[in-house]
Amino acid sequence: MPSRNVLKILMVSSEAVPFAKSGGLADMVGSLAKHLAGLGHDVKMLIPAYRGVDYTREESINVSVNVGFRTENTVCGRTTLAGSNVSVYLLEHPYFTERKGIYGNEEEEFFADNAKRFALLSRAAFSLLRAIDWKPDVIHSHDWPTALVPVYLRTLERNQGFEGTISLFTIHNIGYQGIFSLHDLHYTRLRLKDVCLEKGEHLEQLNFLRGGIRCADYVSTVSPQYAREIRTTRFGHGLEAELEKRREDLFGILNGIDAEIWNPETDSYLPLNYSKTSLEKKLQVKTILQEESGLSVDPGIPLIGIVSRLVEQKGFRELCGPGETALKDILDRGDCQIVILGTGEKWCEEVLRSLAAEYENLRVRIGFDEKLAHMIEGGSDFFLMPSRYEPCGLNQMYSLRYGTVPIVRRTGGLADTVISREEDPARENGFLFEEITGEAIRSAVAEAVRIYREEPDRILRMRMNGMSEDFSWNHSAERYVELYRYGLRRGR
Ligand code: ADP
Repeated sequence: MPSRNVLKILMVSSEAVPFAKSGGLADMVGSLAKHLAGLGHDVKMLIPAYRGVDYTREESINVSVNVGFRTENTVCGRTTLAGSNVSVYLLEHPYFTERKGIYGNEEEEFFADNAKRFALLSRAAFSLLRAIDWKPDVIHSHDWPTALVPVYLRTLERNQGFEGTISLFTIHNIGYQGIFSLHDLHYTRLRLKDVCLEKGEHLEQLNFLRGGIRCADYVSTVSPQYAREIRTTRFGHGLEAELEKRREDLFGILNGIDAEIWNPETDSYLPLNYSKTSLEKKLQVKTILQEESGLSVDPGIPLIGIVSRLVEQKGFRELCGPGETALKDILDRGDCQIVILGTGEKWCEEVLRSLAAEYENLRVRIGFDEKLAHMIEGGSDFFLMPSRYEPCGLNQMYSLRYGTVPIVRRTGGLADTVISREEDPARENGFLFEEITGEAIRSAVAEAVRIYREEPDRILRMRMNGMSEDFSWNHSAERYVELYRYGLRRGR
């Protein structure tokens, strides 16, 4: 790639694999940085050095950050992201190094000083850039912990050497906004209107996410459909009007999957590997899964898998919550088997356990089990995701890759990856339903089971279609590069 095409990108995040992870954000940031560098771009990253983070320090850089009433003298350790040439800077400050946990721990669920901790991280990005004398084309930050990065770029850092640098702010889940007391305002050194007031129950509060949405040059989310949904009252968690104002600058880009870990041709958790041309081996994986999970071994009965956090977001209230009979009704028909792996809310774990005791065609494993997750993806015929909302979703992409036909609610990333017959008969790869009701789940499952029995060739085509899709990170990273370039052409 000629050097003028090389973009200089700074990622700022509270999490990145392999250093610190509490959820999908860490996977996304680590993978995206690595793949951007793989495409030839010059990528650096700033994350906190939380206590216990193990890394080989290649250099130490003194970084003075103007926050609160003083200047904090901190150090950034530099290391290299494995398998890439990405320089990762880890911000060492007692806020991060002197306690366990990213946002909280067993003693304190959500640290009382999180506003200060992440304001420090966000402001430190600019101090670090000055210290290493590196001016990026793009500063890309993620979710509420680094939502103040675009705010600083627009305000206190406006004429401080970053002219021409644009900001992209990615929302991974709008349910978490970083809402804090006004008492924290002084620490940010921002003005009230920069950090955006939020009318709380008793007093006005800061809302970091709102600030990021207002000030970022460009905003993105992790699927095109979620980008549309968060502009509506149903999904916007109170920020829909803010996002509607930014609709021209709001984009959705699907996350990629780790195509090395989730590959049926090489997956070491599977007893047999298979591809599009050896689907008979998938059938063998199915019988092994039936045997291992205690279901009756029958290659002919449709097997439906679920791997999920057992929470309301994922549709469990409609599936088996109080007064709901969808799951029972599906099991009562006796024409399919279901295997569920997950952990989550106690009521849901208990309901599932007791249903498994009652029904022979249901097996439930409460716990986190990487191997079983791969077995369910490999051995099931269908994968059920009745999510209320789903910013991107990974399991439906794993399912498609494994020739396991997804049955999903049409929302967020599910709507963007699963294609129904009505949308495109030639590319059909799964079943979609619209409503968030037990009835909608029940009839979608009944329809899938019917097609399985009556139209096996159609199911085979759906499997093939899914297995032919490209959900790799290379593809997603290229979309981000397009967005960065678009932003740089248009400017701030
Ligand atoms: P979310 O991040 O909202 O939980 P995703 O579908 O985006 O949902 O990703 C969930 C990831 O966590 C997937 O990789 C899934 O396989 C994994 N997962 C969830 N629960 C379990 C579990 N109990 N055991 C193993 N893996 C799990």
